[in-house]
Amino acid sequence: MKTFYHSTRSADEAVTSKQAILTGIAPDGGLYVSDQLGEKKLDLADIVAKNYHAIARDVLSTLLSDYTDEEVASCVAGAYADNFDTSLVTPLAPVGNDWLLELWHGPTCAFKDVALQMLPRLMSVARKSTDDKGGVMIVTATSGDTGKAALEGFADVDGCGVTVFYPAGKVSDIQRLQMVTQKGANVAVAGIRGTFDDAQTQVKNIFADRELAKRLADKGVVLSSANSINVGRLVPQVTYYFDAYAQLVKGGSIACGDAVDFCVPTGNFGDVLAGYFAKQLGLPVGQLIVASNTNKVLTDFIQTGTYDRRRDFVKTISPSMDILVSSNLERLLYYLTGGDCERVASWMRDLSEKGVYTLPADLMDKMRETFSCGYATDIETGSTIASTWEDEGMLIDPHTAVGKCVLDRIPFEGRQRVCLSTANPYKFSADVLEALGHDVSSLDDFGCMDALQQLTDVSAPLQLSALRKAEVRHESVCEKAEMSAFVEDACTRIFA
Ligand SMILES: *Cc1c(COP(=O)(O)O)cnc(C)c1O
Repeated sequence: MKTFYHSTRSADEAVTSKQAILTGIAPDGGLYVSDQLGEKKLDLADIVAKNYHAIARDVLSTLLSDYTDEEVASCVAGAYADNFDTSLVTPLAPVGNDWLLELWHGPTCAFKDVALQMLPRLMSVARKSTDDKGGVMIVTATSGDTGKAALEGFADVDGCGVTVFYPAGKVSDIQRLQMVTQKGANVAVAGIRGTFDDAQTQVKNIFADRELAKRLADKGVVLSSANSINVGRLVPQVTYYFDAYAQLVKGGSIACGDAVDFCVPTGNFGDVLAGYFAKQLGLPVGQLIVASNTNKVLTDFIQTGTYDRRRDFVKTISPSMDILVSSNLERLLYYLTGGDCERVASWMRDLSEKGVYTLPADLMDKMRETFSCGYATDIETGSTIASTWEDEGMLIDPHTAVGKCVLDRIPFEGRQRVCLSTANPYKFSADVLEALGHDVSSLDDFGCMDALQQLTDVSAPLQLSALRKAEVRHESVCEKAEMSAFVEDACTRIFA
């Protein structure tokens, strides 16, 4: 049986999961959803005995069933082989009464690797099964983490190229070095003179440029996106909810069938939505706790029913959660309304035109059966980093600390609780060191890394410490207006 997807805003056009993954976003601006979600449950007793790879194969073949078993198996084997530094892929670590699910053991030390090691493989396979034999160029604007994870995921993947734009001077030294030292014959990286929003807007213009699309089509190249709204990024994230549960059963902390709560540091709502998908597939999920930083649009929404993005954007120490429009929420709205595309489309119109929409009380009640919320300020986040180090001897990054701070406020009542840990602390060495009470004003990122290692005896991951000596391969810095030409040149060079 094939899995069919259609837009959250209209059910008129159905596509296969392969097409949904190649296209990314539906032509009407909606996100791809499947009405088959939840029709087939995974067999829990069977799942809890399996390892990460086997669980990933089950999840993928359920949600993307037009991939053959062989295709799924080869994607899983490639994505989660020796590029993760533990065979568990996403190990659980105890912290107080609770658990941290470490999602940062991949090549770029952030949770996005779990999906971005998989997406290129899913795209490559999908591309081979269409008639189109040309290349796919992924174009991404990044505020720091996504760009590197996309580069690392797509580097040297057959039939794909990847172009990343970052705002020059506005990412950390380590983030910049992670990108400009990227190896691979099919990668292109440029800083732009402007902000992340400028880069993002210009990338959207590039996707909408029909003339460019036509010139590229003549060379057999299409543009695509590795953004977190792609189904191919969402589905791989479902795996670690099941796997965390399996680890708890294997370790004797729960019996198969017991409910578990998950607390998720949230930005674009992709990670926590994957938890909702896991629940639809039969995982006994109690509460999904949506943890936000000071950009607490989602906390306000879950509490009041009104989603209001008309507020100042705050730059925090958990930058990957600095988001005012959480795109993946649209998918949840679709499922909460029982698949009412018209209502979803009208809320999304209100959001883009007025900046605000309100859900009726009955739907909010339904949402609150599964979702609860909370937020942490930078000061609370810093204190959580400090107390977790002092009380537990565990070093956590600011995003994880937002989740832990929110979780710690909720009284423990005996049910097991897992907080998703989304980045290695050394990715944010300066903020972590400062949270531990050190003056960082005279140190660069590597100085902070050294000081943090000395202080804690926890070693920095090799991928990050080795950046100090890595060769810079991408020196381009361009104007916004030059981005389109940069993409076209990269396509010519890579797909010649
Ligand atoms: C992207 C990111 C998040 C937010 O995840 P969403 O799926 O966007 O909600 C949290 N923490 C880190 C470190 C991230 O990179």
